[in-house]
Amino acid sequence: MTIIKKKYQTALNDLIIYLKNSKFLNDKNIESAFRNIPRHEFVTESELDNAYDNEPLSIMKNQTISQPGVVARMTEWLDVKNGQKILEIGAGSGWQSAILSYLVGTGTVYSIERHPELVKFAQENLKKLEITNVNVILGDGTLGYPNAAPYDRIIITAACNEIPLPLFDQLSENGLILAPVGDSSQSLVLLKKTSKGIVEIKNQPKYVFVPLVGKYGKK
Ligand code: SAM
Repeated sequence: MTIIKKKYQTALNDLIIYLKNSKFLNDKNIESAFRNIPRHEFVTESELDNAYDNEPLSIMKNQTISQPGVVARMTEWLDVKNGQKILEIGAGSGWQSAILSYLVGTGTVYSIERHPELVKFAQENLKKLEITNVNVILGDGTLGYPNAAPYDRIIITAACNEIPLPLFDQLSENGLILAPVGDSSQSLVLLKKTSKGIVEIKNQPKYVFVPLVGKYGKK
């Protein structure tokens, strides 16, 4: 169990109470992941005092660590199980990867990031917590990461106009893929790959993410 400094403990408890009351956090395992993967280890020094605000925060290269409520909801929708292999597009700070790594346990997380500075930032943050089952890889995540495919779950943490096609090929049968899809405001879309094709499981509007750029991303 991670020991969180007293300074942050109250703020984390308040955040968790808020997320539970507002129904963004409904799952005991995800609550445990939030308690064991302290967000203040994934923000820049200038944002330390805001680490447990329910807000996205600036990291580097004009990118953000996502809002805790959104991370909780996306993680819940992804329905992660011990031992699974997960592909994340957009490592950013590494916080979402770390939450997923906690939930997959003996499984593995691959996270693709296009900015070298953020690959380094995420890797350093994960190392501080001695997390060894996340591989942060520099690249264009719209191409996926065929080397380790197929994946049980794929999560895109940046806004796309449509889910990049290569990702469907890299998803296992019965696998889930989750992404914010749209222009200035996006819908969170959860799809399942079945033997008969792709089926929409959930769709919820009014989210705002930084853009997914790249070969099959926004121009
Ligand atoms: N999951 C992150 C976290 O927990 O801190 C937040 C991710 S941030 C909202 C979106 C990230 O997607 C940014 O770091 C951005 O650089 C990255 N990104 C955008 N387009 C990408 C692409 N084609 N390939 C890989 N990463 C991309």
